[in-house]
Amino acid sequence: MSGHRATTKESLPVRRQPSETAKWHMSREAVDLSVPEIQGWTEAQCHEFLVEVRFGSRETVSCPHCGSVHRHYWRGHDNRWKCAFCGKTFSITSGTVFAHRKRPLKDLLTGMLMWINSAAGQPALELKRHLDTTYNTVFVWQQKMREGLVRGYNVGLLSGDIEMDGAHQAGRRSKEKRGVPQVSRPVETGAEEKGLTEMMLTQTGRMKANRKKKESGAFDPEFGRKLPKDRRILFAVRKRSGRPGKGAVATRVAVGLSETSPVAEAILKDFVAMPESWLNTDTSPAYQELGRRFMDHRTVEHSKEFSGPKGQNNNQAEEYNWRYDRAEKGIYLNIEPKYLLDYAVETAFRSDTRRLPNGKQLKLALHVAMSVGESLFWKGYTRGHHRKVELIHPAPQPAPASGPPKGTDPRRRMDARPPR
Ligand SMILES: [Zn+2]
Repeated sequence: MSGHRATTKESLPVRRQPSETAKWHMSREAVDLSVPEIQGWTEAQCHEFLVEVRFGSRETVSCPHCGSVHRHYWRGHDNRWKCAFCGKTFSITSGTVFAHRKRPLKDLLTGMLMWINSAAGQPALELKRHLDTTYNTVFVWQQKMREGLVRGYNVGLLSGDIEMDGAHQAGRRSKEKRGVPQVSRPVETGAEEKGLTEMMLTQTGRMKANRKKKESGAFDPEFGRKLPKDRRILFAVRKRSGRPGKGAVATRVAVGLSETSPVAEAILKDFVAMPESWLNTDTSPAYQELGRRFMDHRTVEHSKEFSGPKGQNNNQAEEYNWRYDRAEKGIYLNIEPKYLLDYAVETAFRSDTRRLPNGKQLKLALHVAMSVGESLFWKGYTRGHHRKVELIHPAPQPAPASGPPKGTDPRRRMDARPPR
């Protein structure tokens, strides 16, 4: 029986040690809320969950009309409170991004738990299938969570050991794919007669012309030429934990048209207490002047080394860029520049809360989303009210709705699908 089986320790195949991340995800503590658990709740239990998330308790309910904190009068017949001071009524979602909702709370909680559980992000189409509802419903839910994080999480100053890095994102033919049916192009007639050399010549010529046409965006000194029109630079600003193996503890993200000093300055002003901090960047000229406002500025030249002679590195900011790439290339596929920040903030939140149990992660995300007032970006979206600005640094810029106008084409009024 023992024939060919190795028995000595030395001859056993080497087993890889599980990483700290793997240990965490396999642990019992990593999961403290599940879809079957929520599905077993009554609507009243879902309500109690959200009372705790939004107000802390029934004793400390805050009236969205006048702001008074009190044990307001609860009306069980329509599930609303009546304010003890101003007399107006409100529900658990009044005055939040989820105001005027139509779906039951159980669906909302289930959907948002599924969204939280997907570590890299979740396609709206997948959630639509899970919940058997409309695409618009789940798409707007997800976007409202992102809005909550943009307005309630990606704010405030960081201090301490700060890493900053910009990464090229978007601008990969994203515009031409929007609102246009993706049908295959008809085969060009007469292509067989053309010689191969001639075809290649015209092909190269066409590519050159296309590139020139596309390069109408900002000039980038590092890139050495004008960037494609839809290209954006995604900046990650991260605070190191200062403990080995623990990575970054807080992240702020911002979008700019180029990696230049004015853009970097605007971002640092918004997100970093500069005199109280150390700055770690690559050798991009964007940070050279700005670095002097910090206690110290350490750089690492990435084309030559991962880490400088004194251990200078930008690994946490790089880790964030890698995470965003995973979300865009693996899940969301073709993020419109106008909404790039929203997805980037989602990724930052997921990264910062990676070691929280999933139920706590959900509570935190919902608390933030329910603390920024009603939705400014997505209210009335399905009726054609779209955000008209792109939230970039140094200043937001106008960004009209992309795609065909919704419900306004007179030719389609009678026979087309309802406007959306
Ligand atoms: Zn009131």
